[in-house]
Amino acid sequence: MADSKFEGKVVIVTGGVSGIGAATARHFVDAGARVVLADIDGERGAALAAELGSAAWFRQCDVADLDQVMDLAEAVADRFGGVDILHNNAGIGCLGGTTPELDVGTWHRVLSVDLHSVFYACKAVIPLMRQRGGGAIVNTASISGLAGDHGFTAYNAAKGAVINYTRALALDHAPHNIRVNAICPGLIATPLTAPIEGMGTLRETWERGIPMRRAGMPEEVARVVAFLASDAASYMTGSIVVVDGGAMAGTGQPKVADFMG
Ligand code: NAD
Repeated sequence: MADSKFEGKVVIVTGGVSGIGAATARHFVDAGARVVLADIDGERGAALAAELGSAAWFRQCDVADLDQVMDLAEAVADRFGGVDILHNNAGIGCLGGTTPELDVGTWHRVLSVDLHSVFYACKAVIPLMRQRGGGAIVNTASISGLAGDHGFTAYNAAKGAVINYTRALALDHAPHNIRVNAICPGLIATPLTAPIEGMGTLRETWERGIPMRRAGMPEEVARVVAFLASDAASYMTGSIVVVDGGAMAGTGQPKVADFMG
């Protein structure tokens, strides 16, 4: 649905060339924004930037590297004069086993990409937003930041921290007219989750646990990101918004009525 809600806005989407980030980037471009696709994947970045046209600019960046993130912010400021919206979305998953088995390097890499990156980007971009008189930040957390999963320790820790960091950012920067919110997607069909297709009946089993009985589509998350970034959400900051087909709505306790005579 094309509109001009973000006409003239400058948006950075980290992890912006695949899955949720690519859907968000498309949404912002369709709504009139200039969008910086900040991603480590050069090949997909060049392809998506070519597809989206002159409103999109791909900038290769490892968000887990502070220097690269600072360079990114400087380059965006030079090119566009500032930043209005930051979607901190780059992320990696992690199995790796329970804590005794989990490799220390994996722990650090997951925390770096999924958590430290959010700090780095906020550190680099908030001063630019302040110069412009305000802005909006949307962090992609996860329902895995609201509760634990089996064998997902580092991911659970990182996403839980992103949620509480979002609240702290909201407090610190409300006086600067910068709103900071987080989204918590449930299972979304993206390249990140594509491997579950090859794991027997995992996808069906997973979807049975979702009240809406299906995985979400990246666009269904992108629309919520765009809402949070827009003036329509002008009184929202520090909010943690679940986008999960109802997965977190239940306690997990059985449906008692099915057992009554
Ligand atoms: P995806 O793999 O399709 O996209 C992630 C993007 O991040 C990729 O383009 C990748 O190249 C980029 N990226 C990875 N490491 C990077 C780095 N160091 N620097 C820069 N870019 C990097 O995955 P997705 O499902 O779209 O996930 C996007 C976000 O949503 C992640 O933070 C993920 O944890 C979160 N999330 C996904 C789901 C889901 O079910 N797909 C659920 C909850 C949360």
